Amino acid sequence: MPSAVPAPAPADSGTAQVQQVPVQQVPAQEASGGQAPVEKTDAQWREELSPEEYRVLRQAGTERPYTGEYWDTHTRGVYKCRACGTELFTSNEKFDSHCGWPSFWAPLAEGTVRYIHDRTLGMERVEVRCATCDSHLGHVFDGEGYGTPTDQRFCINSVSLKLVPADDATQ
Ligand SMILES: [Zn+2]
Repeated sequence: MPSAVPAPAPADSGTAQVQQVPVQQVPAQEASGGQAPVEKTDAQWREELSPEEYRVLRQAGTERPYTGEYWDTHTRGVYKCRACGTELFTSNEKFDSHCGWPSFWAPLAEGTVRYIHDRTLGMERVEVRCATCDSHLGHVFDGEGYGTPTDQRFCINSVSLKLVPADDATQ
């Protein structure tokens, strides 16, 4: 940096200002971690899941909109967790949000999913995870005016789900 006035030689180095860095309060996760009924090692997940499934489910990735298997699906049935098979959503609560991801206005039942505050990407969002295996599913948004019973949109990655059509829902 060009300088017209020669800087005085530093007399002593003890005057450096201590910068006050605001300590951000990071609240602990609402639900205590490590208590998921299904627990596997990272290596096990890598082995069982495809690279894309692993990226979304275990690394909280997001599939590209309008590319997933179920964003425009109207088949009656139950959507299970792709990672552990727990039933998470049903076609009864699925609605056309036109956002490019499968959208539901409620989970199949209370307690099938858990919620975590997500502040990545500079946004305040609520992450939705499978309560059974703690895999990432997507996010839930409130009050967008879709006119659904809950006014919520569970925006879920297709790759996190496995649809079991109603006819063979019993497997
Ligand atoms: Zn699961």
